[in-house]
Amino acid sequence: MNVEDISSWNIIAESVPEDLISSLLVHFGHTLKLASSIGLGDQVLSHMLFELNPNASIFVLDTGRLHQDTYDLMERYKMRYEVFFPNTVSVQKMVQDGGPNLSYDSVEARKRCCRIRKIEPLGRALNDAKTWITGLCRDQSVECINIPFVELDSVHDALKVNPIADWTEDEVWQYIRLHQVPYSKLYDHGFASIGCSPCTRAIKPVEDSRAGRRWWESGGAKECGLHPTEAI
Ligand code: SF4
Repeated sequence: MNVEDISSWNIIAESVPEDLISSLLVHFGHTLKLASSIGLGDQVLSHMLFELNPNASIFVLDTGRLHQDTYDLMERYKMRYEVFFPNTVSVQKMVQDGGPNLSYDSVEARKRCCRIRKIEPLGRALNDAKTWITGLCRDQSVECINIPFVELDSVHDALKVNPIADWTEDEVWQYIRLHQVPYSKLYDHGFASIGCSPCTRAIKPVEDSRAGRRWWESGGAKECGLHPTEAI
């Protein structure tokens, strides 16, 4: 994939997300995958993708620490997701070393947990993918402010596409309501983002949306771990 190709895709991305996704499906076929954390943006894109192709490939990384509500929502889609789990031996060793809640112990311990439960399974999920789609939006955090629609993911040797990068939170909610897309009820209980249960919490109306992620750490990026802006 060269710079001209990426520029071309970014031009297509200036239209509505459905057009971009439709073009990607035609061009990449089964090597196109959507990475879903079952968050709001991912639910929007899952809806668009399934409308265009009911057999489209959507994967979920089951870290083993997801909220029960996330599993309940996944249950509604039954076998439509490809689920990737962390390596059992790695998790066993990590938990024996640091306990089940080691992410609170230190930044290093938290990064180790993300590496084992998210980053390594993501590599396996993208093994045969030429393109992956994410539900990232620029206004969801300061770390996302500059994300392009389309970029080269050199780590996974794939194109990374963020079709709703320019959507506001209000636009995401409008789509969810208009199309009656199922969403996690955690959002109705003060969560601004959902992820692993130990590392996300509800926020108060006065708090920044990032306050619900890794609140025990001061400073640093509050991104979910899959799209790191700091070394994992
Ligand atoms: Fe572990 Fe928390 Fe990362 Fe989930 S978000 S993998 S529980 S450190």
